[in-house]
Amino acid sequence: MDELSYYEILEVTTSADKTTIKKAYRTKAKKYHPDKNPGDSEAEHKFKLCNEAYQVLSDEKQRSVYDRYGKEGLQGGGGGRGGFSGGGFDDLSSVFEEMFGGFGGGGSRRQQRGAQEKYPLDLGLNMEISFKEAIFGCDKELDFKYKDSCGTCKGTGAKGGKVKTCSQCGGQGQVYVKQGFMTFSQTCPVCNGEGSEVADKCGDCKGQGFNEVKDTVTIKVPAGIDSENRLRVSGHGNKGKSSSRGDLYVTFQVAEDETFIRHGNDIYLEVPVFFTQAVLGETIKIPSLTGELDLELSQGTKDKAQFNFRNEGVADVHGHGKGDLVAQIKLAYPSSLNTEQKELLVKLQESFGLESKPHESTFESAFDKVKGWFK
Ligand SMILES: [Zn+2]
Ligand SMILES: [Zn+2]
Repeated sequence: MDELSYYEILEVTTSADKTTIKKAYRTKAKKYHPDKNPGDSEAEHKFKLCNEAYQVLSDEKQRSVYDRYGKEGLQGGGGGRGGFSGGGFDDLSSVFEEMFGGFGGGGSRRQQRGAQEKYPLDLGLNMEISFKEAIFGCDKELDFKYKDSCGTCKGTGAKGGKVKTCSQCGGQGQVYVKQGFMTFSQTCPVCNGEGSEVADKCGDCKGQGFNEVKDTVTIKVPAGIDSENRLRVSGHGNKGKSSSRGDLYVTFQVAEDETFIRHGNDIYLEVPVFFTQAVLGETIKIPSLTGELDLELSQGTKDKAQFNFRNEGVADVHGHGKGDLVAQIKLAYPSSLNTEQKELLVKLQESFGLESKPHESTFESAFDKVKGWFK
């Protein structure tokens, strides 16, 4: 099986420059993003391939290794690849931002940053909110912890900021591995390509290079937010060595309601109706998101019949109007009958005459036909 090259995956030429590659990646990532293709495993696979291709081609060092040795040259490179570290994550978040219209406000202030950081400056958190909070919007206080580069060791994790040349790679950041006739260069697994290692661990951060700091932020959750929506809170992410702070991305999980079922901006409501109500037709009260509505059952309303109430659904999170409320009928029958009820029903049935036995007129000709087959 011929595997597509990273250039083919992004549909760029092998001489494409950084801007072209970035543009191609954004277009592809948007197209195949799982949020836009729910349940589509092929799109998910392509999305992963695009990320992989972009992570390599956007990094000059990795790209040149790839150009010379192909994918094999890159494998086993330690912390260099995989995961959304460094630049890769930043670029992904700006894609998300465009997709969700950036309703965190304040436009993009993305800069070239994070290249020298030990961890991504952007921070992702989940938040559970109730059905009602999602529909009407709310202010939510979020307590969380972010990473702050350790001042004592200047983020190095080393006591007194003292680092020594990496013993594994001699400060090159790269090690060379011989495989058969070929020699491959790999990111040094000991220093992750930094070329240096910690002499003694910093006591303040236990060698991590960062401390965890408590923070609280009040999030204005817009009305109409749905599960898996992400909201950017500017400047509440991790703090790096340069003391610039990344952004916080909050992904929402909306709890289900006992009465209403939400589907996008539409709300579904199952309405139990007793069979006599459905036959006679009647106006009944049903709950809506804002109070109650009159549902006019027509004479002879059928089971699963749907009644649409325009604009009684959820307000669109981007301000594009409102969804509908859809009331679906669920016919209910008596579970038992007393003698009087039984007599009344028999009487009722008899009063309809032939109409009460629709199967007889429907199957009359069929009975004759079938008998004819065996003569
Ligand atoms: Zn420290
Ligand atoms: Zn090293």
